[in-house]
Amino acid sequence: MSSFAQRCGVHDAAREDAVQRTVRLAQAAGIELVRIVWCDLHGVTRGKTVTLPALERALREGIGLVSTLMLKDTSDRTAWKVFEPGATDTLPGFAHAGNLVLLPDPESFRQLPWAPATGWLQAQPYFQDGRPVPLDTRRVLQDALARLAQAGWGLRCGLEVEFHVYRITDAGPQLDPHRAAWPGPAPAVELVHPGYNLLTEGWADLADAPLRIVQHTAQALGLPLTSLEIELGPSQVEAVFDATDALAAADAMVLFRNGVRQALRRAGYHATFMCRPPFQQIMSSGWHLHQSLVGLAGGGNAFRREAPEPGSGPLEAAHTLSATGEHWLAGLLAHARGMAVFCTPTVNGYGRYRPNALAPQSVLWGRDNRGAMLRVVGEAGDGATRIENRIGEPAANPYLYMASQVHAGLDGLARGLRAPPATEAPYAEAAERLPTSLGEALEALQADATLVRSLGPGLVDYLVQVKRSELQRHADAEDPEEFMRREYFARI
Ligand code: GLU
Ligand code: MG
Repeated sequence: MSSFAQRCGVHDAAREDAVQRTVRLAQAAGIELVRIVWCDLHGVTRGKTVTLPALERALREGIGLVSTLMLKDTSDRTAWKVFEPGATDTLPGFAHAGNLVLLPDPESFRQLPWAPATGWLQAQPYFQDGRPVPLDTRRVLQDALARLAQAGWGLRCGLEVEFHVYRITDAGPQLDPHRAAWPGPAPAVELVHPGYNLLTEGWADLADAPLRIVQHTAQALGLPLTSLEIELGPSQVEAVFDATDALAAADAMVLFRNGVRQALRRAGYHATFMCRPPFQQIMSSGWHLHQSLVGLAGGGNAFRREAPEPGSGPLEAAHTLSATGEHWLAGLLAHARGMAVFCTPTVNGYGRYRPNALAPQSVLWGRDNRGAMLRVVGEAGDGATRIENRIGEPAANPYLYMASQVHAGLDGLARGLRAPPATEAPYAEAAERLPTSLGEALEALQADATLVRSLGPGLVDYLVQVKRSELQRHADAEDPEEFMRREYFARI
């Protein structure tokens, strides 16, 4: 009898080796429990924990898991009436809250630095007949990267992640059984630094204890962390990572966010990757995504150009970027409004697109300009030439954020799009605006026929239904601030 992994068509000699290696490693390391997790639509890891004796079986057979887990909005409510006949007709395989199977990748094994004797495995969902679930967001990025590879390119991404860390003064509100609710209240917190003292060493020292936890956690998980910084807002910090292949960068973001939140929580801190925490005095957190292409046949950074195009001025893309880089840039601009919801997926994140706060407001690019959505960094001859997209919030699902870049960029390449001149006035009134609300962003996605076609109408309809559920609850909320506290601050 074949194993589930074999029936999925993923179990070859290399996977067999990895299964045996992982089991031996877990035994030798004294692991007692292994968390088998998958990244949900909202970027949150979920799954089950198996005991060491059950590990090998889980690696071969996967673990069963209720399919509604893929249909939940940010409050954990299922956005489809799965027990009503016909309600899941557009979602074959999701009726009646039946099972999906999470199959772990044995190569992803890690020992968690913050939890004793605990291992961790990344998994992806399959239907019981062994077909991968196409709505799985990691699968969406894998599909996008496969298309990019067919065109001869690989995507490299570097992450700059702003977020907020607070000290918990009273976990009571969150943990008081009399106040349990769906979703429940957030803990009471205080600042770890008072802010408005950008990059000050003194505040770095004040925030040293939680930042050490961030550092140790990221490094013990094998993530390419390069720096930790004090941001402008009260209790706001930033983590910067070296560029890696896109899938590894997306996986790193998932591990970082979920790992750091847990490690900090054990030490009495609350980290949030929501864009605008629910306090009077805050600065928005952005997630800036540095990107460049490499030719799979070799040749290094494909955005680098040897010398400026003859006759071009500094505001023309061809002064700085190769033709490939310019097409990619123009593709990102052409689909900026449609991609926004993948990069800024919450009601909260749309408060960030405002002038003069180093966040974008309009669909523009600039040369080393932090007010523009796309910041082109580098110059002719510079091997580190890249495009930094500043459109995202740190709560975004990394797989969807990056997949939207790939499809937009591929369209720019396929059509040979040219970019308009760089902006020198990123907050000028006349420029085309990014969506100003989650609802507008959903409409912009649905109106972008190219993105809908390349991502697949099934994925877009799915996302829209989940996000509409979140929007509706926000619209119905008696206290929208409390909605932000419960749904985002406490949870993401
Ligand atoms: N916090 C700004 C944002 O919302 C970015 C600040 C910076 O460039 O470091 O994207
Ligand atoms: Mg920053």
